[in-house]
Amino acid sequence: MKKFDYMEKYGYEQLVYMYDRNSGLKGAICIHNTTLGPALGGTRVWEYEDEEDAILDVLRLARGMTKKAACAGLNLGGGKAVIIGNSKKMKSDTVRREAFWRAFGRYVDSLGGRYITAEDVGTSPEDMEYVKMETNHVMGLPSTSGDPSPFTAWGVYKGIKACLKETYGSAKLEGRVVAVQGVGHVGAYLCKYLAEEGAKLIIADIDEDRVKDVAAQTNAQVVSVDEIFDVKCDVFAPCALGAVINDDTLRRLKCKIIAGAANNVLKDSAPHGQLVHDLGLVYAPDYVINAGGLINVYQEILGYDKDAAMRAIDMIFDRIREIIRVSKETNTPTYLVADRMAERRIDMMRNINSIHIPGRCQKK
Ligand code: NAD
Repeated sequence: MKKFDYMEKYGYEQLVYMYDRNSGLKGAICIHNTTLGPALGGTRVWEYEDEEDAILDVLRLARGMTKKAACAGLNLGGGKAVIIGNSKKMKSDTVRREAFWRAFGRYVDSLGGRYITAEDVGTSPEDMEYVKMETNHVMGLPSTSGDPSPFTAWGVYKGIKACLKETYGSAKLEGRVVAVQGVGHVGAYLCKYLAEEGAKLIIADIDEDRVKDVAAQTNAQVVSVDEIFDVKCDVFAPCALGAVINDDTLRRLKCKIIAGAANNVLKDSAPHGQLVHDLGLVYAPDYVINAGGLINVYQEILGYDKDAAMRAIDMIFDRIREIIRVSKETNTPTYLVADRMAERRIDMMRNINSIHIPGRCQKK
């Protein structure tokens, strides 16, 4: 991948490499766009097979965050951090763990607030407490807005209901079959919300203990991680990792709706988003339906208020309905409708930002 060509093509602002020899910190922070505000996005720790994969991931995820914030109506830009490694392996060495996360905190701080970090896959609230020792540009700590997962799951639940409403004329979950791939932090909460409203669940996860626990709590049927793509259901809810909608899985899915928490669900947005549309499936764009956690953490900037956060997350229902409605009216895939919504808001606000108001501080 030619990184500068890629950055030019998608309008990136900054890519920062991080390396700390003593603690073993190795990764990158990417700031995609700060037109609407500081770039907020979590820190993902993952054992990437290849360094190039890590860089591509941080670039793609940061761009997704720009679109997520823009579509959700937040005054935030898009950014993300990825760290190459395995956080579980580090847990027992507390000294190294502290040094690792504090080194990361220093990198975040060096960006002077252009990037704000938070938890993501592979990180924990305790890790973020170490980051906080070095920078104020970290959010979602237990003492503030806390774990974003239940909020993300609530938004996904609302988004699934919106898809049902647009597909079947009723948002009711009773008797509907939902296949949930991945019952981790978000997936488990989602299963709880869906089961409480009478949905029948089929679940799969590579973590056998987790899948058993969630099945026991929600009366879900458990299938293997491969079988989950073949089960007959109304909704397929990807809540594990990205790129699960691809040439292979699209041939196998037996659902009407694809709506879940995972980021970058479509392997390649253009061909697979179009194919989903051509097959007559309803796809809830990932960064719109999974914005609940971001909407919640954004409340920290405004002065945290859980009720206000929940009200804002509830609006995902209307947003998803609007996207599906425009998609039907204009015969345009939903991913493209959402992309255009996000781009439109950024363009409009760029113009607003360029209006000079005498006496008003200009951005430094
Ligand atoms: P998590 O790591 O807690 O859960 C992911 C689960 O998926 C784990 O239980 C894991 O064992 C399972 N899994 C991994 N590979 C699998 C496979 N091939 N088949 C089935 N299961 C598999 O992560 P999370 O916080 O629940 O996030 C889930 C997804 O949602 C991620 O893509 C994440 O980026 C996205 N997301 C999360 C949030 C949030 O608030 N946590 C917000 C927005 C988006």
